[in-house]
Amino acid sequence: MSTRPGAPPPDFIRQIIAADLKAGKHGGRVITRFPPEPNGYLHIGHAKSICLNFGVAREFGGRCHLRFDDTNPTKEEQEYVDAIMEDVRWLGFDWGEHLYYASDYFEQCYDYAVHLIKTGRAYVCSLTPEEIREYRGTLTAPGRESPYRNRSVAENLDLFTRMRAGEFPEGAHVLRAKIDMASPNLNLRDPVLYRILHAEHHRTGGRWRLYPMYDYAHPISDALEDITHSLCTLEFEDHRPLYDWTLDYTPAPCHPQQIEFARLNLTYTVMSKRRLLKLVNEGHVAGWDDPRMPTLSGMRRRGYPPAAIRAFCDTIGIGRRENLVELALLEHCVREELNRTAPRLMGVLNPLKVVLLNYPEGQVEELEAVNNPEDPAAGTRRVPFSRVLYLERDDFLEDPPKKFFRLAPGREVRLRYAYFIRCVDVVKDQAGQIVELHCTYDPATKGGHAPDGRKVQATLHWVSAGHALTAQVRLYDRLLTLADPAAMEEGRDFGDYLNPDSLVTLTDCRVEPSLAGAAPGFAFQFERLGYFCVDLKDSRPDALVINRTVTLKDPWAKIQKARME
Ligand code: ATP
Ligand code: MG
Repeated sequence: MSTRPGAPPPDFIRQIIAADLKAGKHGGRVITRFPPEPNGYLHIGHAKSICLNFGVAREFGGRCHLRFDDTNPTKEEQEYVDAIMEDVRWLGFDWGEHLYYASDYFEQCYDYAVHLIKTGRAYVCSLTPEEIREYRGTLTAPGRESPYRNRSVAENLDLFTRMRAGEFPEGAHVLRAKIDMASPNLNLRDPVLYRILHAEHHRTGGRWRLYPMYDYAHPISDALEDITHSLCTLEFEDHRPLYDWTLDYTPAPCHPQQIEFARLNLTYTVMSKRRLLKLVNEGHVAGWDDPRMPTLSGMRRRGYPPAAIRAFCDTIGIGRRENLVELALLEHCVREELNRTAPRLMGVLNPLKVVLLNYPEGQVEELEAVNNPEDPAAGTRRVPFSRVLYLERDDFLEDPPKKFFRLAPGREVRLRYAYFIRCVDVVKDQAGQIVELHCTYDPATKGGHAPDGRKVQATLHWVSAGHALTAQVRLYDRLLTLADPAAMEEGRDFGDYLNPDSLVTLTDCRVEPSLAGAAPGFAFQFERLGYFCVDLKDSRPDALVINRTVTLKDPWAKIQKARME
C-alpha cells in the first residue's frame, strides 16, 4: 500500500489496485487515464477525478494518461483542449508524453466495428432516431427488435462502408450492437455504436462522416492505451456491461477494469459543463474563468491555490455513495493553505481620511511590519506612515453602540504596527456626511505599545494617504442561492437562482505601496479583511484589480460541530 507522505488514506479503489498488484493482475502495472470531453472547461468535480487518477498512478509507481474523449465533433473545440491541459498542469499533474485523443483511434474503432459486423454482432439499422427510442422499450417494458436486425453481413458491410464514404444524410442509418432487446439493462438493448455526422472535427477535419459513440470508443481507447484501471463516476455503472461486451467481442488487446466512484456534488455549485456553458452564454458571468465559476480557471483567478484544491480532494476522499459536500469545506481548505503561505498586507476598502493634527507635516516614517506570523522566514517589510492616513469607514462610528470597540469620538485605538491614535474631531460636509476625522497620535506608543501600560480595545489597519495606491477590489460571494443543486425546481434553471450580491465592485480602495508591481495572481491577506489576489486578467501595473478570494471568517468548524450534535 502507498506510503507517500500526505497521501490520502486507502479508499476502496486504492485497496482494489493494491490487491491487483499483489495478485500480479495486469502484469503488475497500474495505468490510469483522465478522459475529459473537450466540450467545456474543467470544474472542481473534474479535480476530484484528476487527483484520483494521477494520484493513484503516482502512489503505485504507474502512469496516468490525459486523453481527450473527442467523439462528438459538434460540441468540441480546440479552445477547450488548450484550457484543459493548462488546468491539469496548474493543478499540479503531468501526463508526460502520454497525451492522447480518442480521435486517434477512429480507424481502429472502425476496424473493430467491421469485425463486429462480420461476426454477426453488429448491424446497420435504418429506423429513425424517434423509432429507435420507441423500440427501445422502458424500464418496465422490454424493447422490440428492429426490422433491420437480421440484415445479412454482406448488406451490413456494404451499408457501413457507404456510411463512411458519406453517401447518406445524417440520421439515415446507425450501426448498432446486436445484444438483447429484452435486457433489463437499457444500455444493452442493441445500443448505437456509430452515427452519421457531417460535421468538421477539430482534429480530423472532414475525414469522417460517421463517429463512434462514447460507450463504444471509450473501452477501445482504454484497451489500446493498455489502461489497467478505468476509473469513472457512478452513472457509468449501468454502462459497464457494455464496456465489457465491447472488449469481449472486438479484437481489443487487453481488458481494463472499469471501477465507479461517487461524483463530487457541492452545495451552491453547478457541476455540469452544459449548465456552466449556459451561464456563460446567457451572460450571467463574465466567462468560463469568472472568479465565481466552479471551474478550475475560475478558481485560479479567484485565488484558490492548487494545493488547497488537492487538499480538499484528499479530505473528501473516494467512496461509492453519492453525497453533497459543503462549499464551506473547500473554502476552509483554501484558508488553511493561504494562512500558511500568504503574506499579510494592509488595504482599505472604503477609505475614510484621517489627519493626525500633531504629526509633523512632511514627515514620513518607515514602520516595520510582519509579513506572515505563521511563517517566520517570510520576514518583515517597511510600511510608510505619515500625517494623513486612510482608515476603513466601517471602523468609525460617531455614535457607537455598546459592543462597538473600534474608533469613536474621544476614543483611543491602535494602528497596526504604528501608534495609538485618539479621535478629537469629526469633519462633515454640508449634507452631514463624514468626510474626515481629526486625530492625535501618541509618539510614545511607537510599535503599538504604551509605556504606561494603558490598553486599547481595537487594532485597526490603515494606509498612508500620500503613499497608497488606488485599486479596484472585487468582492465575490457564492454565485447561487440554492444550497442543494439537486433540489432545483422542475422547469427552472440555475439562471433563476443567482445571488444578486455575488459580485460587489469597489473602485476607490487604497492599498499599501508594496503592492506596486505585484505580479498577476499574487495572493496575499489584507489584514482583517480576508485573502485576496491580483487579478490575472484585468489588473495593470497602473490600475490594480484585486479579487477577494475568501473572507477570514471560517464557518466550517461551526458546521462540523453542529453535525456532531
Ligand atoms: P459534466 O457533467 O460536467 O459535463 P462530464 O462527466 O460529462 O462532466 P467529462 O469531460 O466526460 O465530463 O469528464 C471527464 C472525467 O471527469 C470523467 O471521468 C468524469 O467521470 C469525471 N467527472 C466529471 N464530473 C465529475 C464530478 N462531479 N466528480 C467526479 N468526477 C467527475
Ligand atoms: Mg461527458
